[in-house]
Amino acid sequence: METPMSDRRALNDIEQLDKRHVFGTWAYQSQVQPRQITESDGVRFTDASGHEFLDFSGQLMCSNLGHSASGVADAIAEQAAEGAYFAPGFTTEVRAKLGAKLAEVTPGDLSKTFFSTSGTEAVEAAIKIAKFYTGKDKIVSRYRSYHGATAGSISVTGDPRRLAAEPGVPGAIKAPDPYAYGSTLDPMQSLDYIDEMLMLEGDTVAAVLVEPIVGSNGILVPPDEYLPRLKEIAHEHGALLICDEVMAGFGRTGEWFGCDVFDVTPDIMTMAKGLTGAYQPLGATIVTPEIADYFEDTMLTHGHTYAGHPVACAAGLAAIETYQEEGLIERAGAIGDYLEARIDDLAEAHPSVGDTRGVGLFRGIELTRDAERRVPFGDREDKLSKDSNVVDEVADAAFAEGTYVANMINTLIVAPPLTITEDEIDEAITALDVALDISDDAMD
Ligand code: PMP
Repeated sequence: METPMSDRRALNDIEQLDKRHVFGTWAYQSQVQPRQITESDGVRFTDASGHEFLDFSGQLMCSNLGHSASGVADAIAEQAAEGAYFAPGFTTEVRAKLGAKLAEVTPGDLSKTFFSTSGTEAVEAAIKIAKFYTGKDKIVSRYRSYHGATAGSISVTGDPRRLAAEPGVPGAIKAPDPYAYGSTLDPMQSLDYIDEMLMLEGDTVAAVLVEPIVGSNGILVPPDEYLPRLKEIAHEHGALLICDEVMAGFGRTGEWFGCDVFDVTPDIMTMAKGLTGAYQPLGATIVTPEIADYFEDTMLTHGHTYAGHPVACAAGLAAIETYQEEGLIERAGAIGDYLEARIDDLAEAHPSVGDTRGVGLFRGIELTRDAERRVPFGDREDKLSKDSNVVDEVADAAFAEGTYVANMINTLIVAPPLTITEDEIDEAITALDVALDISDDAMD
């Protein structure tokens, strides 16, 4: 349940038309309640009946630039007028410059990019490249993860959304996660588990694929030494490290990428969402020079009609220029401290807040029905359930108070546009303060 949907409003004509002819994503279609959005500005969006909402989750944790990034909108219009589409065998100034820009802003020597149109496809490309390059077939990923919706990327996804697609693509094996609050394993023990797992799999694993900071499965931040050690472990066993930066990337953490928080350069990195500030659908998979060189004389058997779409690349280039020119990455770090302090206030006031965690403007508020025993309101299977749980009700109540906040499983996910101000944070915290009375009242 990613968006507040349990309100049973009367739908207007457009909403009814949409409901009749357009599938809702990850949903029982009978429960889909499309809400028509007619305007947006800064961190706010407005529905067709004039209700204004503060966007405390950047839609699906992707509208990093807010809803008024005029530089990106202009670049899109200019490129569409100049040349909307050419086959991937041709290039454009925006594609070449975006490739170079990504080599500049990504860590270490990551240098050559494969473009696609979504996070899912960025992960698919990473998996194929890792398998081709290593000549091995298996991918180790973790249970509390989301990597995409298509065959390969859903197979390496750990959260319950994968269950409907199982048995999935062979060779996708799962490891435990660094989840200090809710796992029986200590985060560093979970790493020992991966070490042993790789040893027992023998020399058959192409890559270990992780979100450096887990996003939709609850904003899980590992200890500082986790990611550097994971890279060593992967390399000791002849496997690559793939970092999925689709959600953590582009400033959310106060650094360009989640792996920058830990000073780690992966062998392959995937990006989407904030890459264009969500102004265009664009995915990207960047690799090291060694991996890029391998494909000089080995065919890269992968491609899409819209790989490197000029309008999407124009949006990506303009978005990165906006992050740089407006200092938004550093801003996210600074204002993230304020957000953390305000979330701490909520935790103090509300016994149902079991854990708060995160970095920069990427934060989770995990709820509990029993603070001592850390019992969740919603368990992982709720993701597939028709019934809403208490955490859904909290998000709905915040929405009724004018603040949109995404929630997954048992955690509210706070990931506003990087342009958000302290006053706007205060406004959203006031809405959450009201909404969290619901979970307080529902405690055991
Ligand atoms: N990887 C991660 C870490 C994600 O958060 C997501 C989307 N939430 C994806 C991959 C898939 O991206 P998309 O929805 O653009 O296909």
